[in-house]
Amino acid sequence: MAARPTRVIAIANQKGGVGKTTTAVNLAASIAVAEKRTLLVDFDPQGNASSGFGIRTQNVEKSVYDCLIGGAALRDVLQPTEIGHLFVAPASPHLAGAELELVELEDRATRLKAQIELFLQGKPRFDYIFIDCPPTLNLLTINALVAAERVLVPLQCEYYALEGLSQLIGTIDRVKATLNPKLEIDGIALTMYDPRNNLALQVAEEVKQHFRVYNSVIPRNVRLSEAPSHGKPALLYDVQSRGAQAYLALAREILQTKS
Ligand code: ATP
Ligand code: MG
Repeated sequence: MAARPTRVIAIANQKGGVGKTTTAVNLAASIAVAEKRTLLVDFDPQGNASSGFGIRTQNVEKSVYDCLIGGAALRDVLQPTEIGHLFVAPASPHLAGAELELVELEDRATRLKAQIELFLQGKPRFDYIFIDCPPTLNLLTINALVAAERVLVPLQCEYYALEGLSQLIGTIDRVKATLNPKLEIDGIALTMYDPRNNLALQVAEEVKQHFRVYNSVIPRNVRLSEAPSHGKPALLYDVQSRGAQAYLALAREILQTKS
C-alpha cells in the first residue's frame, strides 16, 4: 500500500493567547507518540513552540528564518526532541523582521511552501507537519496558509471569538481563491474550555452550526500551562492530566480523519 501523503496543517488564529502554541506543541507530541514522524515548524518570532521543547531560540544556529530568507534547507534546521518521532524547526527572534524582508521579494507568499515541497522530496519521509502561526494575519501567516492543506483553528469560547473567526475565514478564502485552492479548515479546537460558563456553551453551539468542531474539547488545565516551563509537552510532564489526555484524544481524531 502506498504511504499516505504528508499532512501539512497550519495552526492559526490571529487572536493572541487562544492556545495555538499549546495546541501545536501538545498535538504534535501526541501524534508523534503514535509513531507518526512529525515536524513542528515554529513560525512565530516569539518562539514559544521551540521553548516548549526546551530549545532556546536565542542560541539556535539555524532557524526557520534562515529557511525563509537565507536559503537554508528546512532539513538542516531540524532539532530532535525527547520524543523519537518528533522534530522541531525552531524560530528565531530574526523572524520578527522577516515580514519587512519578505515584502521586497516577488515570491513573498510562497517561500515556506517552496521549502516544504523541497523537504517532502527528501528522506526520511514525514507523516505530519504542523505550523504554529503568530497572532497576526501578516505575511508569515499567509506563508503558512499557502504551504498548508488544512487549517486547525484553536478557539477560546469568549465574546469576541466569532468576530475574530470571520476575519480569519476571510483571509483563508482569499488564499484559497489565489495561491492555494486546496486549502480547507480541518476543524475548530475549543480551548481553555469551561462548561460552567454559559457564554462558552453558547459560542460553542454557534460555531458547531458552521464548522467541524473536534469532539475532543481542551479544558482549562494548569498542567498545560506549567509544562512549557519544564521544556516538555504535557504528556511527558503529566500524562494523566486532563490536558494531556485531551490532546491525546484530539490526536486520535485527527489520525482518523480520512482526507
Ligand atoms: P500567541 O497568540 O501569543 O502565540 P497562543 O495562541 O499560542 O498565543 P498559548 O501560548 O498556547 O496561546 O496560550 C496562551 C496562555 O494560555 C499560555 O500561558 C498557556 O500556557 C495558557 N494555556 C493555553 N491553553 C491552556 C489550557 N487549556 N489550560 C490552561 N492554560 C492554557
Ligand atoms: Mg503562540
